[in-house]
Amino acid sequence: MDKQMNYGSDYKYIPATSKESGSGIEVLPDLYNYTVQIVNIHMIGDPKTSDFVLVDAGMPHSAKDIISAVEKRFGTDSRPKAIILTHGHFDHVGAIIELVEHWQIPVYAHELEMPYLTGERSYPKPDPSVEGGMVAKMSPMFPNEPINLGNNVKPLPADGSVPYLPEFKWIHTPGHTPGQIALFRENDRALVAGDAFVTVKQESLYKVITQEQEISGPPKYLTTDWKAAKESVIKLASLKPTVAVTGHGLPMSGELLKKNLKTLAENFDDMAKPEHGKYVN
Ligand SMILES: [Zn+2]
Ligand SMILES: [Zn+2]
Repeated sequence: MDKQMNYGSDYKYIPATSKESGSGIEVLPDLYNYTVQIVNIHMIGDPKTSDFVLVDAGMPHSAKDIISAVEKRFGTDSRPKAIILTHGHFDHVGAIIELVEHWQIPVYAHELEMPYLTGERSYPKPDPSVEGGMVAKMSPMFPNEPINLGNNVKPLPADGSVPYLPEFKWIHTPGHTPGQIALFRENDRALVAGDAFVTVKQESLYKVITQEQEISGPPKYLTTDWKAAKESVIKLASLKPTVAVTGHGLPMSGELLKKNLKTLAENFDDMAKPEHGKYVN
């Protein structure tokens, strides 16, 4: 293991939370949604076995919370086979260094996300001028510098397969970030959507706190390519998922998901794209 891992110099605890923080939902027998403050992580795997992976790595300084949630579900001293990242934003990699050090496991991400995970490139700065609320306004304080996972992070296999999850495929869903991915399982049409779309209006602190369920495009303040973001939502809607877990907000399934995702895909510019902002043209 590479000992050279480090967070950016702007890494810090973010004082924002939701009423779901610290609680989990068994969405499917082998799909668990756990909320860390204002973001979700996902555990994929049957808790009767020790075979599971973790998707994303929560908020800064949340490693203890994540490890105890994992041990609660999979048993004391259990460890995932790997961490798969939907993308590298601070709220999805917040505890990753401590987790990799604790579990000694590999991390996988899309090739286009690698510069942000190996200390090479910062994401574009968040845009606090987008409408939507207090979280958008707070976004300039969010850590923006890249973390460096060194050789602990590897690109996902080019053939669409997902390490340790043979039933899943990864799907490239750029727009929110260049290398964002979703995970999709054909046999039950389960979708792990990352931030390609979310089920809470993430820009609004009030809605984040209450977790009122409402389909929404990717968080506006951090999305930089709105054309690609729209195509990604259309791509995910065309998969006709029966259940979706997202980076923010409560899981959604059945008719509600079908109807809402179709509406979002067909009306993306009205529903998701900010009316003004520095990444809107
Ligand atoms: Zn994000
Ligand atoms: Zn996010």
